[in-house]
Amino acid sequence: MVSEVRQWASPMDFLTQVRPDVPVLFFDPGVLQRTAKRFLQRFPGMVTYAVKANPAPEILDNLVAAGVRAFDVASPAEMTAVRRALPAARLHYHNPVRSRTEIAMAREHGIASWSVDRQAEYDKLADLSAGSEIAVRLKLPVSGAAYDFGTKFGATPDEAVALLRATRARGHVPAMTFHPGTQCADGAPWARYIAVCAEVAQAAGVRLARLNVGGGFAAHRSGIAPDLEAVFAEISGATATAFGAMPPPLCCEPGRAMVAEAVQLALRIKALDPESVTLNDGVYGALGEWRDLPAGDRIAVFAPTGQRRSGALRERVVFGPTCDSVDRLPHPLPLPRDSAEDDYLLFDAMGAYAQALVTGFNGYGARRVVTLNGAPSSG
Ligand SMILES: *Cc1c(COP(=O)(O)O)cnc(C)c1O
Repeated sequence: MVSEVRQWASPMDFLTQVRPDVPVLFFDPGVLQRTAKRFLQRFPGMVTYAVKANPAPEILDNLVAAGVRAFDVASPAEMTAVRRALPAARLHYHNPVRSRTEIAMAREHGIASWSVDRQAEYDKLADLSAGSEIAVRLKLPVSGAAYDFGTKFGATPDEAVALLRATRARGHVPAMTFHPGTQCADGAPWARYIAVCAEVAQAAGVRLARLNVGGGFAAHRSGIAPDLEAVFAEISGATATAFGAMPPPLCCEPGRAMVAEAVQLALRIKALDPESVTLNDGVYGALGEWRDLPAGDRIAVFAPTGQRRSGALRERVVFGPTCDSVDRLPHPLPLPRDSAEDDYLLFDAMGAYAQALVTGFNGYGARRVVTLNGAPSSG
């Protein structure tokens, strides 16, 4: 039997012909590769991809195809995933709390940079060879991110001074790193961190071999598209101001902004009434992050025939499919009044922290991934 490999040009092409009842993720490799090249060409330093945002094999493979050679990994499983895509990849192990078993596994993978934020964890790395890069992770009370997943880890400036001195005492290569929080609205959080990194390095009497400015670059969730190049320019400017004539080489760790735009998510309306709508996925699936972030507004509603719903918008409470009352979005979504049962909601910019957070709770969860064949992905 000859199996037919169908090429899908757009989400609407697929939705109108297959009419799936399960959530579907549409992946556009061309969009991903263009975004990766934008970071590689425009960011003024090394680009490492933060694997946690989306560790799917097709994502890693296309990043490698676009030229990404370095990855920010947090666990041995992420190291294995990257090594499968690119055996010679450069790995930065930037989860500063690690079991001794994880450290042993990481050493077998070969790690180019380790982050530390406390002495006790640094002591677990005592027998790393001299010449290993140690990135001291700094934490500041900085606002400007959509939500703060930057400050679970990090040393205070005083602690960071002590850790940097320890890198010198051990013959390690001193670097610094931070994460300004995710979906930052502008460059201000980076500027603040970079200024304090320079003070910390100076207080420790250490010249940094690298300054890693983390992730936090914004995806286009609502309104107008973020201006990445403007943020890059602010980072360069802040580094020159803070470090003067001898700035350290920069590195960044984009997760969200690297992958978000390359994936769209189609969900289906299971039921609706004037006040609420129940979808076939929710906070236990690909909308897991919508509990913690402001709602995105890049959502279009289509009838199964492909006709776009265009009625006046009406806010509805959004429930997911599971039998748990937690499974609802914290904010109502404005949807066209003429939306109907079996319609599809097509969400743009769903490549980050969507597929990665899907559980199988209650038998639901977005599982199907359709790779588009390079045609325009806007449906
Ligand atoms: C999560 C994470 C990132 C990626 O953050 P985004 O906001 O998705 O860009 C980068 N670096 C570290 C250390 C992280 O934990």
